[in-house]
Amino acid sequence: MTDPHHYEVIVLGAGVSGIYQIKRLIDLDISAVVLEADDDLGGTWYRNRYPGARFDSESYTYGYSFSREVLDEWHWQERFSAQPENLRYLNFVADKFNLREHMRFDARVKEMVWDEPDRQWRLKLAGGDTYTARFVVTGIGVLSAPTPPRYPGMDEFQGESFHTYWWPKEPVPLAGRRVGVIGTGATGIQVIAEIADKVGELTVFQRRPNWSTPLNNSPISSAEMAEIRERYDEIFANCALSPNGFEHVPDRRGFHNLSADERRAFWDELYASPGFAILAGNFPEIFLDEAANKEISDYIADRIRQRVDNPETAEKLIPRDHGFGTQRLPLESHYFEAYNRDNVHLVDITEAPIEQITSTGIQTADTHYDLDVIVYATGFDAITGAFDRMKIQGTGGDALRDKWRDGPSTYLGILSHGFPNLLMVAGPQSVSGSTNFPRAIEGGVDWVTNLLVHARTGQISRIEARPEAEQAWGEEVVEAHERLLARRSRGWFTGYNSNVAGHDTGKVRYQAYFGGGPKYAATLAAAAAGGYAELDMS
Ligand code: NAP
Repeated sequence: MTDPHHYEVIVLGAGVSGIYQIKRLIDLDISAVVLEADDDLGGTWYRNRYPGARFDSESYTYGYSFSREVLDEWHWQERFSAQPENLRYLNFVADKFNLREHMRFDARVKEMVWDEPDRQWRLKLAGGDTYTARFVVTGIGVLSAPTPPRYPGMDEFQGESFHTYWWPKEPVPLAGRRVGVIGTGATGIQVIAEIADKVGELTVFQRRPNWSTPLNNSPISSAEMAEIRERYDEIFANCALSPNGFEHVPDRRGFHNLSADERRAFWDELYASPGFAILAGNFPEIFLDEAANKEISDYIADRIRQRVDNPETAEKLIPRDHGFGTQRLPLESHYFEAYNRDNVHLVDITEAPIEQITSTGIQTADTHYDLDVIVYATGFDAITGAFDRMKIQGTGGDALRDKWRDGPSTYLGILSHGFPNLLMVAGPQSVSGSTNFPRAIEGGVDWVTNLLVHARTGQISRIEARPEAEQAWGEEVVEAHERLLARRSRGWFTGYNSNVAGHDTGKVRYQAYFGGGPKYAATLAAAAAGGYAELDMS
């Protein structure tokens, strides 16, 4: 072990959160460094290199708002930009402000122990290095702990196989090959649509279908980009006012005030509109009221039937176990049309479950599928997974993953009692998990930064959330969640994951705040304006 490196603040993760966080700290002359487990920056956009990976937030609402220069200089090429461009953007921002020199790569933190006498965190890295810091700020991602399935025989497969998060950097040859994709979430839907016409045969192993609607992507011309630049202040102001951090705003005419024909005409418009218009621009009633939700679900089901030639396949692609908009909505480009191709086959694994992976393919209860490539698009140990993968030991020797065994418990999604000086950006129970990520991330980074400035000014070396404040926030998180029909879904919002022991029981883990961006921002602002009264500081 080398001597510990000491910083006032250590930031974990060089993704969207960490890049902005280190910028703020450096500007304030706070001694700080970013530790990044990967060998380069970019987080989500460094890792998810699978074909088809792209934003489903409008690019110009996803980019950072903090720098006028960046806004003026960067030209988004597409309304929903693809992974290579997104990674270039994050590199552009980091290089513009010389942030790389404050980042250490291949620095995976395995263990963090709170040292009460010295009021600091002691961090141990996988390679053996140690660091100490008064404060640790996490930007470790909401969807950064991938979960491959747990089928027997996965190591035996002789072809190429990988989880989408680990899609290789080198191009994977697909032409003429037999490819199997397991999983039909937002990732699977993007991959399937993108590779359908590039592979020999594509077999999709679907457990539960997802509702999915068109992305309606398009290029952004120089003239349009100039207009967007003129409008940036308005764009970010609109996002700050909307519950989900988009420019789309809910339609408040009242679902029941319109006739069924009027509603259908409105949905026709939304279906042809870009991005999350059909979700975030819809009637709020569809998320709350069973009848309204059934009507929109029936509408979307009809759209699927219109697009898929084989009626049997179409019925298999229509979800029956949850209503439209009650799980995270994947957006698609020609996904349903992929099933009209002769080389694309849909296998319903609820009828014939996967039994094992063999050396040559996938064995279900009734058929063996010979494959050259297996793609696991099976999702993530969402929101808390990246925390659980480290040993984080707080006061009294308790581990965070034990405290959070049945679900996270936090104050505003930023602090957790028993873990002083640990500040989470886009943490569990923050609004980040339920909105356009960067919009909430910027708010989270600013709040954390202001708290650190408050600590520096007041010579405060220890900050801890009060248990009663944490309990009150937990109740608010539950209440916001329980209002929604989504409370019964089995998506990652509720923490369900069949590939993680203990997360497959059906018991809801309240891990995201669904009260909406404006309310969350107001709560953060009030907490700061009140002098952080819910925090013990000394
Ligand atoms: P996901 O939504 O959790 O979907 C995982 C899929 O794999 C589901 O269809 C699931 O089936 C299936 N699955 C999991 N384990 C399985 C098993 N053992 N056997 C068979 N099937 C299995 O994960 P994701 O698609 O990676 O998406 C996660 C989130 O990432 C998205 O919701 C979104 O927030 C984000 N994302 C964003 C973008 C974007 O911005 N454009 C793109 C991709 C992803 P069940 O439903 O039956 O569990």
